[in-house]
Amino acid sequence: MDSPLVERMRPFGTTIFARMSALALEHGAVNLGQGFPDTDGPAEVLRAAVAAIEGGRNQYPPGHGVPELLDAVAAHQERFYGIRLDPRSQVLVTAGATEAIAATVLALCEPGDEVVMFEPYYDSYAAGVALAGGVRRTCVLRFPDFAVDEVSLRAAFSDRTRMVLLNTPHNPTGKVFTRAELDLVCRLAREHDAWVVTDEVYEHLTFDGATHIPVASLPGMAERTLTISSGGKTFSTTGWKVGWVTGPAEAVAAVRTVKQFLTYVASGPFQPAIAVGLGLPDDVFSGVAATLQHQRDVLVAGLRATGLTVSVPRATYFVVADAAPLGATDALSFCESLPERVGVAAVPVSVFHDDPTAAPTLVRFAFCKRPEVLEEAVRRLAELRSG
Ligand code: PMP
Ligand code: GLN
Repeated sequence: MDSPLVERMRPFGTTIFARMSALALEHGAVNLGQGFPDTDGPAEVLRAAVAAIEGGRNQYPPGHGVPELLDAVAAHQERFYGIRLDPRSQVLVTAGATEAIAATVLALCEPGDEVVMFEPYYDSYAAGVALAGGVRRTCVLRFPDFAVDEVSLRAAFSDRTRMVLLNTPHNPTGKVFTRAELDLVCRLAREHDAWVVTDEVYEHLTFDGATHIPVASLPGMAERTLTISSGGKTFSTTGWKVGWVTGPAEAVAAVRTVKQFLTYVASGPFQPAIAVGLGLPDDVFSGVAATLQHQRDVLVAGLRATGLTVSVPRATYFVVADAAPLGATDALSFCESLPERVGVAAVPVSVFHDDPTAAPTLVRFAFCKRPEVLEEAVRRLAELRSG
């Protein structure tokens, strides 16, 4: 029999995160592959989830999301960015940012429509576009500074461009798009009458005073921008899968039409808990970033001491390094062998590219781990040099 999997999904197989986490488990490796923290987030948030479960909030929440989370998302956008939203029509709660991305692409793209995105891209972008029968058009960001190349970005647009799928701060590079880069993206989107779908899940995880600029806050962009975020990163609750989409009411309604038939609703008791999180004082948000910045510094220093060339990230959970000095010639096979060889798991950047030769030896390491865990990983990596 032919493969049971539809052709457009055949290139996707099992995600790199699942593969590398399985290898990490098998070999007892320090897992700097899949990005999830090894400590809990704010106690208030955890307690609110327990209270919601014990308080009987265990049935289907409303299709849009629980009212206090809709209100909290709208209040958060106004408090941090001055973006005003009607919580009832301009906010939709989803099963994590992942569902928000898939539902948005499925809602907005006809088969054959083109979606512009930057490479390396988060893996679900390519899969989401494939699900919708869309066509991916990419602009490559190159190590070590990952700056946007205007010529290449312009070339990715055409009269079939339906949307730009942007991610700032950016996974896997840790890049925060600059105002000038965002202005260029927005200008091209306007010229081609395209939507901008912007994944801002790392909005609060910025370092060294870097400022995250939400696309929807830029002049003339609110009417053509759908913004996606999630509570997973900010509150260290990646397993709760509470995400959201905000934007013009008609577009949010379109996404909801699709979302209803993906999960209908999800994460009932976790929704009010994330609402509590979004309302916490500013120092909680800056504290998360400060902790991560320290962890970044520990890992960057360790990787450098091991002889790697590192692109220092200004945000997110991730650092990209060139593993050639450790003998890597192909990042995928290097990462596949690493858990067994030295007991560390990481992710090859090549899998986030259409053209894997764009980043043959780049490896992504997650630093959302306790400093002692990062130091142990670095000690193990150093064995590659001595051994
Ligand atoms: N977008 C990006 C850029 C991510 O890194 C992730 C996952 N960590 C997601 C979306 C998915 O978020 P969620 O876990 O809320 O589905
Ligand atoms: N977003 C996480 C990462 O980039 C992983 C999420 C997943 O496993 N799909 O590591």
